[in-house]
Amino acid sequence: MEPLVDLNTVTEVRAVRARRDLDALAEEGTAILAGGTWLFSAPQRHLRTLLDLTTAGWEPLVAGDDGLEVAATCTIGELSRLPARPGWRAHPLLAWCCRALLASFAVRHTATVGGNVCLALPAGAMTSLAGALDGTALVWGPGGAERRLPVADLVTGPGRTQLARGEVLRSLHLPAAALRSRVAFRRTSLAARGRSASLVVGRLGEDGFVLSVTAAVPRPLVLRFPGICPPERLRAALDAVPVWFDDAHGAPDWRRAVTGVLAEQVRAELAGPPRARAGAAGEGAR
Ligand SMILES: Cc1cc2nc3c(=O)[nH]c(=O)nc-3n(C[C@H](O)[C@H](O)[C@H](O)COP(=O)(O)OP(=O)(O)OC[C@H]3O[C@@H](n4cnc5c(N)ncnc54)[C@H](O)[C@@H]3O)c2cc1C
Repeated sequence: MEPLVDLNTVTEVRAVRARRDLDALAEEGTAILAGGTWLFSAPQRHLRTLLDLTTAGWEPLVAGDDGLEVAATCTIGELSRLPARPGWRAHPLLAWCCRALLASFAVRHTATVGGNVCLALPAGAMTSLAGALDGTALVWGPGGAERRLPVADLVTGPGRTQLARGEVLRSLHLPAAALRSRVAFRRTSLAARGRSASLVVGRLGEDGFVLSVTAAVPRPLVLRFPGICPPERLRAALDAVPVWFDDAHGAPDWRRAVTGVLAEQVRAELAGPPRARAGAAGEGAR
C-alpha cells in the first residue's frame, strides 16, 4: 500500500467499528487516530498503522442524573455546544475550557476530548476541565479489560500518561455533584492569543473548595480545602508546589507568580456572593 501523504511511514488506516478492532493497538508501530490535529502535525516515523476511532460510533455526550459521560471521540466543538441543564452551575466551564484551546475553528471542531487528554500537554484544556470537575477516565485494555482512574492522575507529565501499550481512553465521566458546584476560571498566556501559560479553575461545592491548576505545572495540580480558605492558606499550598513548567510559553518563576495572582482572584470570587455569570470576567485575564 502507498504511504499516506502526510505521514509517509504509515501504510494503513483501519476503521474501528467494534471493540475487538482495538486489539491491534498492542502491535508495534500502531496508534490511535482521533481528530488527527496533532498526529498529522508532526513526523511520526515510528508509526505504520493508525486505528481510526472516529468510526467507532460512540455517543459523544450522555447527560444523566449521575453526571455527564463524554466519549473520547466527542469533539471539543460538540462539548462546547452542550445545552445547559438545570442545577449544573458549572456548565459555563465547559465552554471556557473549550475556548482555552489555542486553535482555529477548524481544529476545535475536529480535535477530540480524548485526543486532548491523551496528548497530555500541560496546556491540555480538556485535562483542566476534567481535573477541576473530578472527572474519571474509563480506560479499555486488550481482551476486554477496563479500569477507571481520575483524569488528574491519568496525565503524569508533559506528553506522558498512565496509558499502557494497547490501552485506549474510552470516555470521561464528570460527576453531577461537581457539575452542581459554583466555578470561577482564570487563564493567562504570554501573548494575546498564545497557548495557556496558567489556567486556574476554582470550584465550590458540596465537597468544599477545590482549586485546579494546569498549564503552569507539568501535570495537573488539584488542591482541596474543606471550604473557602484564607488567602495565606492558599498561598502556602501553592508555595509548596515543587516544580513549575518551563517552555517557550512562559518561564517557571513567572508562571508561579502569575498562578498565585489568578488563584487568589478565583478564591476571592468564590468567597463572595454568586454573580450572574461567575468567572466570565476572568476568561481573558492576562
Ligand atoms: C493550531 C493548533 C493549536 C493547538 N493548541 C493546543 C492547545 O492550546 N492545547 C493543547 O492541549 N493542544 C493543542 N493542540 C494540539 C492538539 O490539536 C489538541 O491537543 C487536540 O485536542 C488533540 O486531539 P485530536 O483528537 O486531534 O488528537 P490526535 O491528533 O488524533 O491524537 C493525539 C494523540 O493522542 C492519541 N489518542 C487520541 N485519542 C486517544 C484515545 N481515545 N485513547 C488513546 N490514545 C488516544 C493519539 O494516538 C495521539 O498520540 C493544538 C494543535 C494545533 C494544530
